[in-house]
Amino acid sequence: ARDRRWEMRVSPTASGARVVELIDHSEGAATERMRVDFVANASHELRTPLASILGFAETLEEAGDDPELRSRFLGIMMAEARRMQRLVEDLLSLSRIEADKYRLPDRPIDVAQLMDEICAELRRTGTARVGDITCQALTGLPPVLGDRAQLSQMLHNLIGNAMKYGRAGTPVDVRLEPGATGGVRLTVTDQGEGIAPEHLPRLTERFYRVDTGRSRSLGGTGLGLAIVKHVVERHRGQLDITSRVGIGTSFAVTLPATTAPPTGTGPGALSS
Ligand code: ADP
Repeated sequence: ARDRRWEMRVSPTASGARVVELIDHSEGAATERMRVDFVANASHELRTPLASILGFAETLEEAGDDPELRSRFLGIMMAEARRMQRLVEDLLSLSRIEADKYRLPDRPIDVAQLMDEICAELRRTGTARVGDITCQALTGLPPVLGDRAQLSQMLHNLIGNAMKYGRAGTPVDVRLEPGATGGVRLTVTDQGEGIAPEHLPRLTERFYRVDTGRSRSLGGTGLGLAIVKHVVERHRGQLDITSRVGIGTSFAVTLPATTAPPTGTGPGALSS
């Protein structure tokens, strides 16, 4: 094909033979590689908790009736099953949002009200590790044409991350104000460890984590920010991340106002 850009790579093997690789650098090939990587990553993420559940189930079968062991192992198995459940739910959300990608969201949403609901819910159900969640909206903000469930998930993921990665006892600040060109601008700011600049460009990739062990121990799936990115894109908005190591991180989402988009906003308007 005309867009193929082949590269030939020759490398020696330990036995003295040579391996010749033909690498396809075309755009189609890059998309295909991303898809293959995604399936491989998702399978790997599911395989780990599954192996652990099977392992503990087998040990339980052999270990008999020791009540203490039984309850400890069952606890671990349930935690691992919940991890699989979170992962499958995030995978499903991501594929639903992607399937909707060319259909513009069309319901007028009061983002301030949605933000208040989610802040209240997370104050109730979230870990008490961080301090206050302060939630402030300027009055008189315009509604946004949106998809309520998807915007709600976006808010959950951003505020949830600030709660996970914020330093113990420090506040999480959630703010809604008018956007520079109409619409609204949401910012979620934490006083956490921050993110080094070299990680920022890849942060919204599926399964990209700065510290995998830490993300897992906090119950993360590695898909939260990929979901945020896709929701923002579907709403024709913009996501900006600013962070300073040791000081904290701020995620800003700008959503356009309710004005109907120009017709012809087609596939080309989306980056991925
Ligand atoms: P996870 O489930 O691992 O939290 P996300 O996609 O939500 O996955 O985030 C990807 C990675 O970005 C996280 O693993 C973490 O390293 C980093 N990250 C996200 N939000 C923050 C934050 N508020 N402060 C510091 N690091 C963050």
